[in-house]
Amino acid sequence: MGTIRLLDEQIANLIAAGEVVERPASVVKELVENAIDARSTRLEIDVEEGGMELIRVRDNGAGIEPDDLHRAFERHATSKLTSGQDLFRIRSLGFRGEALPSIAAVSKLECVTLGANGSAGKKLEIHGGEVVSEETVAADRGTDFIVRQLFFNTPARLKYMKTVQTELGHISDYVYRLALARPDISFIFRHNGKVLLQTNGRGDLQHAIAAIYGVGTAKDMIELVGETPDYRLAGWVSKPELTRASRSALTTIVNGRYIRNFSLIKAVLNGYHTLLPIHRFPLAVLHIEMDPALIDVNVHPSKLEVRFSKEKQLFSFIEATIKQKMNELVLIPKQMTSSLKNKPIQEHLDWSGSRKSERIVKNEPRGSKQPFHPPLMNAQDKESRYSSEKLQETVRRYVSAETKETVLPVFPELHLIGQMKGTYILAQNDDGLFLIDQHAAHERINYEFYYDHFGNPTPVSQELLIPMTLELTPADAELMRNRIELLEQVGVYLQPFGGNSYKVMSYPHWFPTGSERELIEEMIEWILTERQIDLAKLREKSAILCACKRSIKANESLSNAEINALFTNLRACLNPYTCPHGRPVVVSFSNHELEKMFKRVM
Ligand code: ADP
Ligand code: MG
Repeated sequence: MGTIRLLDEQIANLIAAGEVVERPASVVKELVENAIDARSTRLEIDVEEGGMELIRVRDNGAGIEPDDLHRAFERHATSKLTSGQDLFRIRSLGFRGEALPSIAAVSKLECVTLGANGSAGKKLEIHGGEVVSEETVAADRGTDFIVRQLFFNTPARLKYMKTVQTELGHISDYVYRLALARPDISFIFRHNGKVLLQTNGRGDLQHAIAAIYGVGTAKDMIELVGETPDYRLAGWVSKPELTRASRSALTTIVNGRYIRNFSLIKAVLNGYHTLLPIHRFPLAVLHIEMDPALIDVNVHPSKLEVRFSKEKQLFSFIEATIKQKMNELVLIPKQMTSSLKNKPIQEHLDWSGSRKSERIVKNEPRGSKQPFHPPLMNAQDKESRYSSEKLQETVRRYVSAETKETVLPVFPELHLIGQMKGTYILAQNDDGLFLIDQHAAHERINYEFYYDHFGNPTPVSQELLIPMTLELTPADAELMRNRIELLEQVGVYLQPFGGNSYKVMSYPHWFPTGSERELIEEMIEWILTERQIDLAKLREKSAILCACKRSIKANESLSNAEINALFTNLRACLNPYTCPHGRPVVVSFSNHELEKMFKRVM
């Protein structure tokens, strides 16, 4: 007898749920998209405990007619496609008819709805795919979905869920993108009763951007429009001096659908060309309209990825439009002018840790070449460094698990031969030839300097004369509330400053000059995205961020004195052999290896 059977509907739905409902955010996305497809103008989204307890989406859209209610929860049941042809000209967000049965299969779901034709509402309750009750109730026009105890019957998936904050992060990310996609719909989004987003639904995209990223940020963005026979582009992009440490504030919307597309993002970045500082990304919200025939949305179960048929033309259009806009603006980064005006003289970094350096240098604008003067460490400095408690702790971190020896790695005495391509330093000693990556070397030195300093930052923090305010998204601002104290332990003091803003009250005076704001923003971004944070990790991460900012880059010629100072500082490092990212600082060729290479010995 054959063993192949058709799966029953309930199992099929459970399997589909595995694809469609990955986490609470997927439920929010599907329910909100359905509400948008139902031509709602007002949406209320309530979430409890990161969506694990409850997800509720209420809309004022078309509603579901009583005859359709059961069918809406059947697999491949949709009102959005009538023929195969429709698949090639999709205007709606949904069309696969998979979301409702999938969500209902893995949760306790309640749906109250009233369509245009009915006078009373219908309420349907489904637990784990089985209808448990159905009744006629009083209801407003529209649909109200309540999803409780997601994944209650799929423990494997439940185990995979992260913390409330992580799940909330995913949810708010979707809600923000959907609100940016549809500024003509009013969104209210609450977590545990607290309003995290409210948009007015009047169709003003800049207003929606302000609701999410803050008024200050929205004001620093510029409007963009463009058109070709195939495409229409409208949106807002940040001026080059307004940047983020990640790509997360880049939103591309195609025919009203938020999509993720690497090439589209790349086109945006190319549009800025060299205007962006290294490792910084702009903010952008782009609405792109095109004939639905030019785009295939049926390539991904949650429709986040799409395929364009005239890809190259689209990308070069986006790139060119942004480029042109940037050329139109004569942009002088604010930081450049203000730092020149307000702080002409800046004390040089105090390298030795205990003594104050007497050297002062002019604070040059960002991006200009900064003079590099690593200080020399005398024996006494080294002694005090090596004997401190802090050192012992650091040594423990570095000494490899296998040996457990407590010897400090020693950087060899080297004699300089020269510099190659402004990037590598060539040096020798009796043992052989050494190539040093100057950027990695300097990063290591800086990293150890900052790591030490972050260990005890408080006494040297200084109050700011010119206040620095930071605008966060509503969800991030809320999350930050619990993490302020952690930041204080590395010397950064924040205070809530109304709305979603924080004011930086003080930070350590030894933060890399000219990059203070960027640094604090990056530290906050890290704190907000990292799952498990503790002081030790924050200290290390902050030191790495500082080291990157402060370090000499490749292609920078150094004087012999500077190179020798670099060697001296490397010898004072606890681990001089790798940069904080783990890349090697030095590679060596022993005399024997060289002789073998040249076949002088066999
Ligand atoms: P799809 O969105 O792909 O059609 P779904 O499973 O998400 O599939 O929804 C099934 C059907 O239920 C939809 O086609 C629509 O007719 C109806 N529906 C779902 N949510 C709503 C809503 N909020 N308002 C009105 N109708 C809805
Ligand atoms: Mg749908």
